Amino acid sequence: MQDTIPKNLDRIKAVLPPQTELIAVSKRQPEEKIDAALAAGQRVFGENRVQEACEHWGDRKKIYADLRLHLIGPLQTNKVAQAVALFDVIQTVNRPKLIDALAKETKKQEKSSMPCLLQVNTGEEPQKNGIAPKDLPDILAYARAAGLNVTGLMCIPPENEPPALHFALLKKLAHRHNLPELSMGMSNDWEKALPLGATFIRLGTAIFGEREEITK
Ligand SMILES: *Cc1c(COP(=O)(O)O)cnc(C)c1O
Repeated sequence: MQDTIPKNLDRIKAVLPPQTELIAVSKRQPEEKIDAALAAGQRVFGENRVQEACEHWGDRKKIYADLRLHLIGPLQTNKVAQAVALFDVIQTVNRPKLIDALAKETKKQEKSSMPCLLQVNTGEEPQKNGIAPKDLPDILAYARAAGLNVTGLMCIPPENEPPALHFALLKKLAHRHNLPELSMGMSNDWEKALPLGATFIRLGTAIFGEREEITK
């Protein structure tokens, strides 16, 4: 199974424009597949749970100095210290309480320049994390005042709507607020995110195959 990983990475990277970086989402993937991606030269990875990310990357981070780890899942304030220590980019900033905790912890760990993205709930889905588009100006101002290095926006479009509409909205919001990074596009819609200016695409199954069931 892991034989296909280098091929998948090559196939995807061959069509990426220069401004788009591929994040390999290694959540719920087995160790041998993560090692196969590393052996193929992949160095940018995404995880959605802090605990699992520490298990996957705690030791590997010591071996691969050029790793870049992105947190792409919800962050609880009691995990902020661990997250700031492990990750290089936090993509899921979504509320004042988390902004306060991140600002405090990045200063404490001398990582004030750590890039952070605000997650926008472009579909305004009640069950989904993220800032409603109308609240974005206030939350962004709050984050900037707190000293966070906000570099961009991230979204996960609703499942049964055309993703391009949501990518276009995210792009418009980012442009309006002078934010260069756009994290948008997953395994089933990333090709639509490229022409709309994605600077990060987050691919799991397209690289690694299906994930393991949740067991914990
Ligand atoms: C799991 C996950 C991904 C990757 O999903 P695939 O469909 O496997 O590419 C991307 N972004 C977020 C926020 C995720 O939680």
